[in-house]
Amino acid sequence: MKIERAQTSKIHGIDFNNLSFGQTFTDHMFVCDYIDDEWVDPRIIPYQPIQMDPSASVLHYGQAVFEGMKAYKDDTDRVWLFRPEDNHARINKSAARLAMPEFPKDLFMNGMNELLSMDSDWIKPGIGNSLYVRPFVFANQAGVAASASNRYSFMIICAPVGAYYSGEINVLVSEKFSRAASGGVGYAKAAGNYAAAFYPTQLAQKEGYQQMIWTDANTHEYLEESGTMNVFFRIDDTLITAPTTDTILDGITRKSVIQIAKDMGISVEVRPVKVAEVIEAHKAGRLKEIFGAGTAVVISPIHGVGFQGTKHVLPTIENSYAAMLKEKIVHIQYNKSEDPYQWRKEVVAVNA
Ligand SMILES: *Cc1c(COP(=O)(O)O)cnc(C)c1O
Repeated sequence: MKIERAQTSKIHGIDFNNLSFGQTFTDHMFVCDYIDDEWVDPRIIPYQPIQMDPSASVLHYGQAVFEGMKAYKDDTDRVWLFRPEDNHARINKSAARLAMPEFPKDLFMNGMNELLSMDSDWIKPGIGNSLYVRPFVFANQAGVAASASNRYSFMIICAPVGAYYSGEINVLVSEKFSRAASGGVGYAKAAGNYAAAFYPTQLAQKEGYQQMIWTDANTHEYLEESGTMNVFFRIDDTLITAPTTDTILDGITRKSVIQIAKDMGISVEVRPVKVAEVIEAHKAGRLKEIFGAGTAVVISPIHGVGFQGTKHVLPTIENSYAAMLKEKIVHIQYNKSEDPYQWRKEVVAVNA
């Protein structure tokens, strides 16, 4: 791997106590190109703009997939990733659906380890502080023929994030719009899925909701995901979440929550969840919690759910599953507890 270091670091100008999510990037980035059926020239270079032909395929046909993961620093300055092999497997699953080449695991892991080691000063210790890591692949062959590109770039960029409180989250059940249809690309972290979600989300925001809660495209009767998080419902003391079909993203936080909840003795059901079931449970006083699960905030409690013009507000409860599960996961991520699942992987420089 070639390494070109930045002449000067930008880090001294950064106010780590006032970071807005995903607006500040570290000094370096990892780049690798796909040319003539091969991934070539893996390199770490100073973070910088990229040049692209205006006819580049990604700009016209949207062949682009990404991942979202985080690096955490413990109190002895060791840096950790959480289940990174799963992110690697998923970016390849996403890529395959968009007719894009898979990216080799050793390049993914080595590139990330080297990059994170070089930029490790950007990772601050303390729960809530982390480095958001964004691997992505896009088609950059020049030409507007509507077919799969022959050229791609894989990159990793990193953004420091601080602990932040996102405020009260209210979600609006989608009665018209869909995020994903069966047979489509919902299970992939494909750029276009997010583009298609912005407009319905803006409409929900005008009604005072922060996020959509997506329903199945065929009937709009089943709850699928909330924003860019998988979603869990606690009815009485049972935790329920939808199965990961081809319309639902197979979240790493989701599967970690399921595993930990089961091991804590919580009853977990993975099955389709009807909107009607959740509304009825709420009316009967049995709906105790709803929360989203995803890398960005780990677990995000949901305060209210809008459906057919009514906002159903959840009760405030003690000993919430959301808080208990979040603490367990966060302690594994920050090396503050045992890791019986071996989910934590230490970041170690490859070249150094
Ligand atoms: C990334 C993402 C998730 C959460 O996945 P994690 O691996 O837990 O971060 C859930 N839903 C969608 C649509 C996503 O893009």
